[in-house]
Amino acid sequence: MLTTEQTDRAIGAVIGSAAGDALGAGYEFRPAVPEPTPIRMAGGGSFGWAPGEWTDDTSMAVPILRTLARGGDPASEEALDGLVAAWADWARTAPDVGIQTRNVLTGLEARVASHARAAARQEHEYKGQSAGNGSLMRTAPLVLGYLTGAVGEELRLAEAARAISDLTHYESDAGDACVLWCVAIRHAVLTGELDVLRGLDLLDLEKRRLWVDRLVTAEHSEPVDFTDSNGWVVSAMQAAYSAVRRSSSLEDALVRAVRTGNDADTVAAIAGGLAGALHGAAALPGEWRELLHGWPSLRADDLVALSEQALATH
Ligand SMILES: [Mg+2]
Repeated sequence: MLTTEQTDRAIGAVIGSAAGDALGAGYEFRPAVPEPTPIRMAGGGSFGWAPGEWTDDTSMAVPILRTLARGGDPASEEALDGLVAAWADWARTAPDVGIQTRNVLTGLEARVASHARAAARQEHEYKGQSAGNGSLMRTAPLVLGYLTGAVGEELRLAEAARAISDLTHYESDAGDACVLWCVAIRHAVLTGELDVLRGLDLLDLEKRRLWVDRLVTAEHSEPVDFTDSNGWVVSAMQAAYSAVRRSSSLEDALVRAVRTGNDADTVAAIAGGLAGALHGAAALPGEWRELLHGWPSLRADDLVALSEQALATH
């Protein structure tokens, strides 16, 4: 049973991420925005977003949240099939599907997990790389299925995070990032503390040193130091971590993340998952919460209701 504060932090992970996405929507593909220029949730950008409208980051997170709200094991093959079907459906009409995700989801012979994994591998072999930030950006809601404190829960969360990442992103850096971020979000929800290396032991032995180096580098960097490469999952996570670590509030974390420009909405969506888990949903500025909305015709209150269902069924 979660405390009132833990519940607020769990919901904060979901709407913090969505708010970061919507705040950054108008700044995607733009240069960094230094202080003191204000950052506003004004929409616009390359896709002409409405003020407060979220983008692909949250639209791909919603099916994960809905899977949890329905109950059951989100890492089951049946649940993974459901995610692939929901994403493929969304991708038919969405204006802003990431290149890698689009290549995987369109042209699937069957909208099932096994076909998506095969397509993700094929995409990797064709390009020689597949560690875009598109699986990390959608991962925060998954944590809501793993908050009971049961033995082995952190490991099960790590396995589920990797399984969902693998549906579209074959390269192990993408799955590793989702594992580290989800475990850090879970720890923040349960304790209120920031520890991004908490999930290190859940990675392959030969990858652990590399990730320590990457995250220590982020601690000594500004989010903007990663602007040029923040479409890469590692740089996006480093920028998001730097923004969260340097911030004093949820609002501050999201603004710092958005200032990085380039893939600003995704960096802020990633940062918002962890910052929301640290500061709680109640910390989100009311004006942003009012504006927040997006595919498929949901608003902030709907994300909260789905989050509460997810917590109640797990
Ligand atoms: Mg986006």
